[in-house]
Amino acid sequence: MRRIAIFGATGSIGASALDVISRHPEQYRATVLAAGNRVEALIDLCRLHHPDHAVIADEAAFTTLRDGLRDAGLTTQPHAGLAATDTLAASDACDTVIAAIVGAAGLSSTLAAARAGKRLLLANKESLVLAGELLMAEVAAAGGTLVPIDSEHNAIFQCLPDGRPDGVAKIILTASGGPFRGRTRAQLVDVTPAQAVAHPKWSMGPKISVDSATLMNKGLEVIEAHHLFGMPAQRIEVLVHPQSLVHSFVEFIDGSTLAQLGLPDMRTTLAVGLAWPGRVASGVAGLDLIAQGGELQFEAPDLDAFPCLGLAFAALQAGGTAPAMLNALNEEAVSAFLQGRIGFLDIPALVEDGLAALPPTRAESLDVLQAADQAARQHVLAAISRLN
Ligand code: NAD
Ligand code: MG
Repeated sequence: MRRIAIFGATGSIGASALDVISRHPEQYRATVLAAGNRVEALIDLCRLHHPDHAVIADEAAFTTLRDGLRDAGLTTQPHAGLAATDTLAASDACDTVIAAIVGAAGLSSTLAAARAGKRLLLANKESLVLAGELLMAEVAAAGGTLVPIDSEHNAIFQCLPDGRPDGVAKIILTASGGPFRGRTRAQLVDVTPAQAVAHPKWSMGPKISVDSATLMNKGLEVIEAHHLFGMPAQRIEVLVHPQSLVHSFVEFIDGSTLAQLGLPDMRTTLAVGLAWPGRVASGVAGLDLIAQGGELQFEAPDLDAFPCLGLAFAALQAGGTAPAMLNALNEEAVSAFLQGRIGFLDIPALVEDGLAALPPTRAESLDVLQAADQAARQHVLAAISRLN
């Protein structure tokens, strides 16, 4: 029986993970569930899945969690604070960790799972963008298995069965293009948060949905691919594919190209992560290409309308603390956009301004990266208040 911790259990990935796990009660059990601040939703999940431990990051919600679990007659142990996820990640409460917290907040529990050599199902791409070298070094040192859950990287992982990039000429990440594909920059001035989160193909949390609309999501994924597969930026390409059925390509030096296809449903990638190198049913149907319209289209990304993709490539090439700052600037800008405080086009403008104002330094330690993250947040929050 595999014991699984889900960090970010109340989110979109958390729901998909619990769905797959509940299909195989003889193989998998959710033993730890952790959430940010939606304590009632967390208690509801505990009623359904009976984990051994529940963590609410918001310390003020501890008594609500404790009393809710007790009133529900559950033996689930309550915990509060993000540090509790680090402790549980490293403990024998779990052998597998699904890292599905959104944003830089997920870094420390992801690192804790990596250090403890747990099987790490990594959805939290921001931790790789922020501290990719450190995280990959921890995984290698502890000898754990890392399975990327992001659909593109999961596709590439499946196309590289021995996990080694030998003979790979390049990686081609596919992108849906988001809800605003085909629009010019001028047509993006007035778009609203509600329009930006209405993704045409994937149902996801609000932050990643906005990232998909700006193409920053693909930019973060380029950096993610760089760390996961040891590919330099020049050998990573992006191709817009509106059907979202081909999840990425790997081109080898002999002219062969492999791709992974499937319906856009994260339960597939989570099932791959849980069962690898085996396979388990995920609840996702096989791909009927005729029923899906019988056509696969591809086009180049529009870097003028969606400058975030170019900014991410530039940050990767600049190296050092630049990707950590790109991520922090973007997180704060997206949060301000979702709150209606800034416009859609302010997101790339603020990221560009922040990267220009804050020259990168070498990223020799986690402290340096976290200081860069904080400096970038302060810089962009000041810029946002000047815009208001
Ligand atoms: P979501 O907003 O639906 O869920 C986020 C989860 O993180 C929630 O459980 C929330 O309670 C928790 N959380 C938020 N802030 C926290 C904090 N400070 N401390 C502890 N917990 C906190 O997001 P999502 O769409 O499920 O995405 C989660 C991660 O997976 C992101 O990094 C995203 O980029 C990645 N991802 C998601 C998808 C998808 O299809 N949803 C696909 C690929 C990658
Ligand atoms: Mg993705």
